[in-house]
Amino acid sequence: MQLTRATAVQKISDDLRVRLSAPEREVKVSIPVRMDDGSLKVFEGYRVQYSSLRGPYKGGVRYHPDADINEVRALAFWMTMKCAVAGIPMGGGKGGVTVDPKELSIKELERLTRGFVRKLAPVLGPQRDVPGPDVGTNATIMGLIADEYSKIVGKATPAVATGKPLDQGGSEGRSESTGIGGMYVLMALLPHLTRKKPSQLTVAIQGFGNVGSFLARNLVAEGFKIIGLSDSKGGIYTEKGLDPDAAETYKKKNGSLEGFPGTKNISNEKLLELTCDIVVPAALENAITKSNAAKIKAHIVLEMANGPTTTEADDILFKKEIHVVPDVLANAGGVVVSTYEWEQNLKNEHWTEKKVLGKLRKLLEREAKNVWKRSTKLKTDLRRAAFSVALERLDATLDKTPKKR
Ligand code: NAP
Repeated sequence: MQLTRATAVQKISDDLRVRLSAPEREVKVSIPVRMDDGSLKVFEGYRVQYSSLRGPYKGGVRYHPDADINEVRALAFWMTMKCAVAGIPMGGGKGGVTVDPKELSIKELERLTRGFVRKLAPVLGPQRDVPGPDVGTNATIMGLIADEYSKIVGKATPAVATGKPLDQGGSEGRSESTGIGGMYVLMALLPHLTRKKPSQLTVAIQGFGNVGSFLARNLVAEGFKIIGLSDSKGGIYTEKGLDPDAAETYKKKNGSLEGFPGTKNISNEKLLELTCDIVVPAALENAITKSNAAKIKAHIVLEMANGPTTTEADDILFKKEIHVVPDVLANAGGVVVSTYEWEQNLKNEHWTEKKVLGKLRKLLEREAKNVWKRSTKLKTDLRRAAFSVALERLDATLDKTPKKR
């Protein structure tokens, strides 16, 4: 759907259209896992390798009860676009296991992860396919992936997975990279989107997990005022402005943001409709749909979640002249630092946080400006402009020499 919309503004070669019409490889595996009570359970796992036109497949592994091959395939296509928008030397892939990780013990999760790697090992590898974390997985699981793969191939191979713990070859700056990256993208685009300075801008953020909390902290440091925050239990609001550190401490102690002193409780739906300058969906997909898009009052939507805006909502926001900074650009900081981790592992180096975040800032500022220029040239929205940049880069990898008939 998004590809069709993007190709309306960016002509692509017939060869690229064919190459992107289906993933290069889809793997479906059964993973038998010995449970703590001695029983044997079988879980279904997937890895979709969508495109290697720009480099080894790159994309997270999701552990979720709703994960299935269709979702993983769509996410693998998205990763192809995201890596191309970011201009990193990676292709697109994604993985998933249909499981609720909260229902497994730590040992069961370890056996599941090692079993998944044993099934996938022939198609993984630093130059082939490099998984990273996603919903329901974390640094520990990435460390297990690298460890199991290393055992199978008989040598330490940390570059086979990213998002690992620091003492297992992880990169400085990886945990904050998506949130801080969103701030870098926003700051690069801001002069084009509004005449106001950060200190004159108010922000509401839906989702206060890894991405939302690091973004909130970094926006406050730049002078923005956060007037609303939310988690799965609901939202909080105050015109006076929130301190993200205090909100995080409160959430850790009380299990949710609700009742944070000096704020009013509001629903997640109302949070998106607050009168503010910037609204940030940083939780789940499909947060902004045709039923609430017309009620958005913010002038800018910064998409930190993957797929938070439906295509119908996109059209409504475009007509309302609301700028949507698309996920493939706004949340690309995570995959960029994952790529830096891969590069450090391959070169046996360990970069400082200053170096990692300095490189990330430079890259995202450059690519955000690139997407902005493309949107003005094509007179289109930032999402189609980002796809246009990605498709052009993918097309450039194809051999254009005339074929003999
Ligand atoms: P996370 O740490 O699990 O945090 C998710 C947050 O969203 C939590 O605060 C959660 O609330 C909240 N939430 C869950 N359901 C909600 C609902 N219905 N309404 C409002 N809030 C809800 O996940 P994350 O890593 O921050 O990822 C957030 C989004 O960013 C996802 O779409 C992910 O795919 C995307 N993303 C993440 C990265 C990355 O590097 N982490 C990179 C690119 C994209 P509770 O705290 O109450 O559970």
